[in-house]
Amino acid sequence: MSEVAIATMAADARQFWKRGWMLGTCGNLSVKLRDDPLEMLVSASGVDKSRLRAQDFLRVGAGLELLAPSRHRPSSEVTVHEVVYRRTRARAIYHVHSVWNNLASRLAQDRIELTGVEMAKGLAGIHLGDPVLLPVVDNARDMRDLARNVEAGLDERYPAVVVRLHGVYSWGADLDEARRHVEVIEFLLEYYGRAAGISAVR
Ligand SMILES: [Zn+2]
Repeated sequence: MSEVAIATMAADARQFWKRGWMLGTCGNLSVKLRDDPLEMLVSASGVDKSRLRAQDFLRVGAGLELLAPSRHRPSSEVTVHEVVYRRTRARAIYHVHSVWNNLASRLAQDRIELTGVEMAKGLAGIHLGDPVLLPVVDNARDMRDLARNVEAGLDERYPAVVVRLHGVYSWGADLDEARRHVEVIEFLLEYYGRAAGISAVR
């Protein structure tokens, strides 16, 4: 399981890096290895997402303790991953920083509305015409505060939370679904940002 998950996360991270969503070591990835007690496999802090290797992933427990020795520290945002695993049915979480998710987050208060966009059908459980109101929460310097903000924004209808001027956490029932959700969410947020720009010049 771990070897396949690592290879999948490394390949996905490289694709996201190529698209400008994981530049400058930003972003993080994880998969849930076990439910009770929680065990996560999380990308390390400060590593280049274009070339992740097996040693760049750490096994972390529910108390955020390392379950296997490593010369790395886990991503500081592992606190957010822990909350999402605890509060949702997520089994894999991807976090990306993109220009479009940052821009879109500036344009909304606490929700980004995208109802009626065909691409939203790529989100599990969403059908054309269903309301799509992605939660937007404020960023925070302290990771515990950030985790609290994300927890407060969770809406079981949507597999994502947008953090203002920071990035998006998106998740799925497995790594494939998490990847699909990131791609769909980024499409929707780019659409939202571009549509706002078009409206502004009219
Ligand atoms: Zn981040």
